[in-house]
Amino acid sequence: MEQLILVRFGEIHLKGLNRPYFEHRLVREMKRRLYDEPQAAVEKGDGRYYIRGVQNLDAVMERIRKVFGVHSLSPAIAVEKDISAIRDQAVEMMRDKRPTTFKVKARRADKRFPMTSPEICEEVGGYILENLPGWKVDVHHPEVTLEVEVREQAFLHCETLPAAGGMPVGTNGRAFLLLSGGIDSPVAGYMVAKRGVAIEAVHFFSYPYTGEPAKEKVLTLAKLLSEYAGPVRVHVVPFTKIQQEIYQKCPEGELTVIMRRFMMRIAQGLAQRGKGGALVTGESIGQVASQTMEALAATDAVVDMPVFRPVIGMDKQEIMEIAMKIGTYETSILPYEDCCTVFTPRHPVTRPKLERIEASEKVLDIGALVQEAIDGTEEVTFNAAGRGLDE
Ligand code: ATP
Ligand code: MG
Repeated sequence: MEQLILVRFGEIHLKGLNRPYFEHRLVREMKRRLYDEPQAAVEKGDGRYYIRGVQNLDAVMERIRKVFGVHSLSPAIAVEKDISAIRDQAVEMMRDKRPTTFKVKARRADKRFPMTSPEICEEVGGYILENLPGWKVDVHHPEVTLEVEVREQAFLHCETLPAAGGMPVGTNGRAFLLLSGGIDSPVAGYMVAKRGVAIEAVHFFSYPYTGEPAKEKVLTLAKLLSEYAGPVRVHVVPFTKIQQEIYQKCPEGELTVIMRRFMMRIAQGLAQRGKGGALVTGESIGQVASQTMEALAATDAVVDMPVFRPVIGMDKQEIMEIAMKIGTYETSILPYEDCCTVFTPRHPVTRPKLERIEASEKVLDIGALVQEAIDGTEEVTFNAAGRGLDE
């Protein structure tokens, strides 16, 4: 008898020729989550993975649930492929539970096993009824479904937990996420990472207008994202000088749009240096003055790479629900300001004209400001095991 985790994977079986590559990435991500489990190993089974030798089963299951590409998982017991071992184990597993209704579901993937699936169900179900008083069979609405899978070994489990789904990170390139301390951008990063895209985060930091706690908050968000997205490198960009320059030299109503154009230029510069193929933001149409279609167009105009905005069509409420589900919400609502209110115009233009904005920017030495910010950028990497750890 051996305790293990049975892992089912999702969409990657569709990928035909790429399958070995996808599986390699998936295994790599699962292994990362086993950093404090020296005995644990990931083994490929037929249509499944088995994680064996785990000490702290609950903690590891919680981590593996967040791996993109994993569809569902079950804590399972493996026994030899022998019906008396199977039924003894079945009784053992049910013994601790409060008696209720159950059914047995059997799958015989190994056709050499001498009993058919219905025969296994009958034998195991009968044995439970004989040995455990109070249990009743209900094939339609059982409270407990005991599954018996006969494969390389016989696996028994009565719990299947849904996992993150999506595709293994790193199978669809790399994108740079503009990560603020808010609710939306972590959700945007999660959504793109779910499609297999590796994420690096870019945070614009306006010290001393925003302080250390605000920066720590963003780093915490990156850490939370890395539980799903694998290693997340955070680029912390010094942004104060740019904001001051814009504030002093440009029309007040245009501050936000011009500031966002700088963010995009710098993020693109970092992405080009770091082999990123796209930028990601947490913008949604009409949410604030800087997120009108015209404003989005004005920010897009300064970059050549695609800009993904996965929450573009979502209501705040919908975004918040995802944030709660993935566990970033509590951190996002901590009350640290993200960009100082000093730099927020009282009457922002909501329909910026590109030519006007470009004219207003002419007084700034854009190239030098962008370069200086990139040169002053600091990096921290998070992975499943915590802070400062590289890939
Ligand atoms: P969020 O909840 O993600 O902060 P928001 O609704 O507050 O979004 P804005 O503050 O207008 O919206 O920012 C829009 C997007 O610009 C953010 O989702 C994020 O991608 C990016 N962004 C804003 N501020 C920063 C920052 N300081 N550093 C990095 N990216 C930022
Ligand atoms: Mg914000």
